[in-house]
Amino acid sequence: MNSAQWMEAIRGRLIVSCQASTGDAFYSPESMALFAAAAKAGGAAAIRANGPRDIAAIVRATALPVIGIQKRTMDDGQVLITPTLEEARALVEAGAAAVALDCTARGQRHGALERVRRIREELGVAVCADIATETEALAAAECGADFVLSTMRGYTDETARIRRFQPEFIARLVAAVRVPVIAEGMIGTPEEARAAMEAGACAVVVGTAITRPHEITRLFARAVRPPEACVVAAIDLGATNTKYGVVDQAGRMLWSAVEATPSKEGAEALLNHLAHCAGRCAAEAKRLGNAAAAIGIAAAGWAERESGRVVWATEGMPGWSGAQVARVVEEASGVPVVVENDARALAEGERRFGAAKGVRDFLCLTLGTGVGGAAVVQGKLLGGASALGGALGHLPVEPDGEPCACGARGCLEAYANAAALLRYAAPARFGSAQELIEAVQAGDDGAKRALQTYAVYLARGIAALVNVFDPELVVLGGGLVQGNAELVAEASRETDRRIFAREVRRVRVVASSLGYEAGVLGAAALALDAAREGAG
Ligand SMILES: [Zn+2]
Repeated sequence: MNSAQWMEAIRGRLIVSCQASTGDAFYSPESMALFAAAAKAGGAAAIRANGPRDIAAIVRATALPVIGIQKRTMDDGQVLITPTLEEARALVEAGAAAVALDCTARGQRHGALERVRRIREELGVAVCADIATETEALAAAECGADFVLSTMRGYTDETARIRRFQPEFIARLVAAVRVPVIAEGMIGTPEEARAAMEAGACAVVVGTAITRPHEITRLFARAVRPPEACVVAAIDLGATNTKYGVVDQAGRMLWSAVEATPSKEGAEALLNHLAHCAGRCAAEAKRLGNAAAAIGIAAAGWAERESGRVVWATEGMPGWSGAQVARVVEEASGVPVVVENDARALAEGERRFGAAKGVRDFLCLTLGTGVGGAAVVQGKLLGGASALGGALGHLPVEPDGEPCACGARGCLEAYANAAALLRYAAPARFGSAQELIEAVQAGDDGAKRALQTYAVYLARGIAALVNVFDPELVVLGGGLVQGNAELVAEASRETDRRIFAREVRRVRVVASSLGYEAGVLGAAALALDAAREGAG
């Protein structure tokens, strides 16, 4: 079949990948033909299959058009899809109406682009280029590939950190290449298949989620199993101090330490510092009789969990923007590493161990040197398009007010951080926020008034956020909330006066229940999720 005939057959349709490997209960051409027949009955327009024997059996049983591949283990021990013209020829002779081959950078090093031309010219079938990046797709289309398929995204060295289907990548591919795009790889739900079509794919290939019963079973089995006894290393990298420790699956801190953060010394010093903290955790975990299963890092600055990279940080930590935290610490430690913005990590900690257990919609605000924020909306932590989402501390509360670290004026951060609290008291009366909070407890009127002013600004911010997000819970954490019940009560009261429809809302303003170690426990929550995923 040529590309026009293929388009006719598959546009707006589902392609089902029917593959099994050695050792699989369904490893036989007969089984694959049965899977293909079931797929046809369910509405599949075409099949993707591996090897001449499976393809011949599937064509016989279903008469559906088949995209043929030949998986081959190469000298480097890694599998390559259809690495020779002879293998492509055998697929076509077995009945394949198209051939797919690995056109990633690695495939190209094995001559994939030349093979694209020769398959088209000598075998007369459509050619499907399996790629992982836009650059690879462009090269394959340039050499005559009839379709590009996102199959390899997440499975090459360059894209290895991507662990979910990305409809936004499909949209970028559609915009970049002139040949039709078929979405394939990590599509696990009908919603994701739909999102692929909405992003501009002409068809969608689904494999594992339909034709690998043991993989589907594994997901359910893992979801049902109680968390295994394990320990993780957790690091809370603040601008001033780094708190870190060994935490078990119940959130118990088994060992902990604090060190100064070398904030001003650049990315390399910070990464060495993190590797050092991770190393101490690993040693302590071993001493306690258990290896750390993963490392969680809650970091100042905006980290992107998916890429493990710091996307953006203020000048408070020069050089920190762009640091490849997860990769570097993973190489040093040899276990999975997750990195996340510190306030967002705290939200994960509250959800797993703290005040937000079982709560679907909640906000976190951390009140300290800065004001961090995180929003969990309908059960999902808000990340955003550039991993900068949920910067609740930069909500404006005073037009053209005090300058903020972000460069704007009048942000909640500039009115609800530790410096602001001191500013609200008589000039230079208190040396630190801690001193002021102690004076409030001792009944000092000036300190109480400062706290009242602070609570009003904080409540302005919280009320605006409540109106936007309609959360069930607003969790206040950070140094200023420690041992400061007055602040939480005052902020709660002031918030109530500023939100509409108060009588029908369920919102409560509460203090974090995780205490001084909240940041470390947030990092631990990230690591425990990673450990569970890694446990298969
Ligand atoms: Zn700001």
